Amino acid sequence: MARKAVALISGGLDSILAARVVMDQGYEVTGLYFTSAFSKAFGHEQNTHAARVSEETGIALRIIDLGQEYIDLIRDPRHGYGKNINPCIDCKIFMLQKARSVMEELGSPFIITGEVLGQRPMSQRRDTLNVIERDSGLRGRILRPLSALVMPPTQAELDGLVERSRLLGFSGRGRTAQFKLAERFGIRGFSAPAGGCLLTDENFSEKLRDLFQEQERVIPLDIRLLTVGRHFKVSPGVRIVLGRDRRENEVLAEIASPGYHLLEPFDFMGPAAILTGAPTEEMKILAGRLIVTYSKKISGMMRKIRFNEETFTAGPPLESPESSLKRIGAN
Ligand code: SF4
Repeated sequence: MARKAVALISGGLDSILAARVVMDQGYEVTGLYFTSAFSKAFGHEQNTHAARVSEETGIALRIIDLGQEYIDLIRDPRHGYGKNINPCIDCKIFMLQKARSVMEELGSPFIITGEVLGQRPMSQRRDTLNVIERDSGLRGRILRPLSALVMPPTQAELDGLVERSRLLGFSGRGRTAQFKLAERFGIRGFSAPAGGCLLTDENFSEKLRDLFQEQERVIPLDIRLLTVGRHFKVSPGVRIVLGRDRRENEVLAEIASPGYHLLEPFDFMGPAAILTGAPTEEMKILAGRLIVTYSKKISGMMRKIRFNEETFTAGPPLESPESSLKRIGAN
């Protein structure tokens, strides 16, 4: 029977390489891909780099939604934030705790991660890696095959379950060694380094902080809404979010549900909008005017907006919406 191991897979090169290095020692690897409402690929995980490259490499991928618990963790992280609203240490601990339960389920002796010592400022320093191991309850059980030779041996190495001499000693920010190894394994299709976590984005962080301040409970749908559009705050609990392109308009249509009211141009081309909370008639009209403001060339007669099952005529465009309404985030 093949020996089993669990690997965290992000879709980036390092995580795939790490899993592949261990597969070379006869392990069957189950990859874990964590998703959440913060992810641009949320709901479309099967079309990600992670899914494609895992399939090419022979890794069976499980998709795990981090859900509400993750949002609550980001609001109040025990180890604080990085440069923006990214709580990298708590985030890693949380994901590893999830991975630990899969590890126990499969009877795997360790978890593989693609971390490289010294590659990232906050979460990949030696002292931080130790904290992450301790707080996830995985001391000695996290195997980092790319940096193993510059770190103390893990339990699996000590027990002879993994041959230490066949692991690597990468460290620092350089990527040349990783690219060479990828070539040797014939790995392609991985995503660019840094992966684009929204929590490290300044503009997104501003919007999320504002939302945390305003709402006691923030649910995945609020987060999804935060990932698209131009955001205007109308009053406490009421926001208007306008799509900036067709994809965003489609996401807004998917989000539409009780408390997230969809407005769409009825007889002209323009952005869709979501109006949150319990809006008044006045707010509905304002959202219609914003749609008109951000639409291209509308003739005077064509300004009908669809709201629920009805239509209404929007007023004229707003002169300068950015100065009369509070805009959250820079884009
Ligand atoms: S960059 Fe984002 S996903 Fe990665 S550890 Fe930090 S918060 Fe978590």
